[in-house]
Amino acid sequence: MKESGRKQSGGASSPCAACKLLRRRCSQDCVFAPYFPSHEPHKFANVHKVFGASNINKMLQELPEHQRGDAVSSMVYEANARVKDPVYGCVGAISSLQQQINVLQTQLAVTQAEVVHLRVTHNASSSSLWNNNAGHNSPTNSESPSSNIMDSQAKYFFEMDMVVVDHASYGDSMWSC
Ligand SMILES: [Zn+2]
Repeated sequence: MKESGRKQSGGASSPCAACKLLRRRCSQDCVFAPYFPSHEPHKFANVHKVFGASNINKMLQELPEHQRGDAVSSMVYEANARVKDPVYGCVGAISSLQQQINVLQTQLAVTQAEVVHLRVTHNASSSSLWNNNAGHNSPTNSESPSSNIMDSQAKYFFEMDMVVVDHASYGDSMWSC
């Protein structure tokens, strides 16, 4: 593992991105070298800004080598999210995706309700063909008030497709309508 790290960092003449930024000598057993190659300087810059080099060092030392790569990926992701969104970091992304799930689940529920509605309407109209019976059970047509509401709701939801929702209560209010 250490040899491959040295290969990536390119030997003593080019220190890894971490040592370059920290202006220190990149030793043979540098813990950063396998994960922060010199050609990716920004990767370490954000992680260093958010976590601090000594904390990253400590975390990597505490982990077995086969888990260090994943830990670095996780820290890089979290650091980038924190730089983009200093208040919420990853939670902002999670919350935004959760809102999208809520919106999409609502769209799905509306569409499923519409399918049921159309199926019922279709069954009723085909049975009325057989009976030729204009009783109170026979369907009027697709312009019934309930289907209008359904159509406008569906249109409304589809227009919001992939919109990142800002308000936390938005999904809830959609469920309650
Ligand atoms: Zn180094």
